[in-house]
Amino acid sequence: MLIPWFDAHARDLPWRRPDTTPWGVLVSEFMLQQTPVGRVAPVWAEWLARWPTPSAMAAAPQADVLRAWGKLGYPRRALRLHAAATEIATAHGDRVPSELDELLALPGVGAYTARAVLAFGYHRRAAVVDTNVRRVIARAVHGAGDAGPARTSADLADAERLLPDGPQSRAARYSAALMELGAVLCTASRPRCAGCPVHADCAWVGAGRPEYTGPARPTQRYAGTDRQVRGRLLDVLRGAPGPVPRSALDAAWSDAAQRDRCLLSLLDDGLVEQLDGTSFALPGERGTEART
Ligand code: SF4
Repeated sequence: MLIPWFDAHARDLPWRRPDTTPWGVLVSEFMLQQTPVGRVAPVWAEWLARWPTPSAMAAAPQADVLRAWGKLGYPRRALRLHAAATEIATAHGDRVPSELDELLALPGVGAYTARAVLAFGYHRRAAVVDTNVRRVIARAVHGAGDAGPARTSADLADAERLLPDGPQSRAARYSAALMELGAVLCTASRPRCAGCPVHADCAWVGAGRPEYTGPARPTQRYAGTDRQVRGRLLDVLRGAPGPVPRSALDAAWSDAAQRDRCLLSLLDDGLVEQLDGTSFALPGERGTEART
């Protein structure tokens, strides 16, 4: 039931199109880790046009990659993707690995991303477990209102048990369908069970949709957080053609203690470089004069 539903209702996302390479899938998965589909789609298209292969990205300066990352947030992902591209270009002949252990050895690639590349990039049998999949399984299989804290091995085993036998491409499509179900119908706050392809067999529906009683999910605020301040500081650097003086960063946030803490963390993460006592730049942009 799930695959026919997906065949009929899957969203037309650019990285799902048949001509998408495993590299395109890898880029999409990095971007989608913390950012909604709607914000990722245009940036993904620009990136693939600009850097159609890992070696093309590996040849680009880190500063260009950070600028192109734009407002996707969590910019350490951009540097990790750049590092992964470099590794693929130099150690894998510019071809994204198609074996799980090789994928897991790439910078920034964890269990989820590695399996997503196998399933969506190589159409291989691989259980892909994200928050949405965990929620669908919690409800449809275990009859719980939500998934609760991650249980990495158990979650993966749950998802593997659901994969259909037969061609690997069919199991891969099932993985995509399960993710889609969690993203568009079996949502956290308002599951739309009436239109769900597994409604008749759903354990949670069968149990009368009991309230979730496990630990609450932490809510994420943004305004006033260090994440916002880091974003403001990076915006200053991304918007400048080269290094900027300290005063330009000081103008981006009024709380000096928070600003200094965030600048230090950006330096620690390698997202910003300090050129001397008074000027700062995106990585690799040393050597040019600071601009006010
Ligand atoms: S029937 Fe409802 S709760 Fe069950 S899997 Fe479908 S959308 Fe989720």
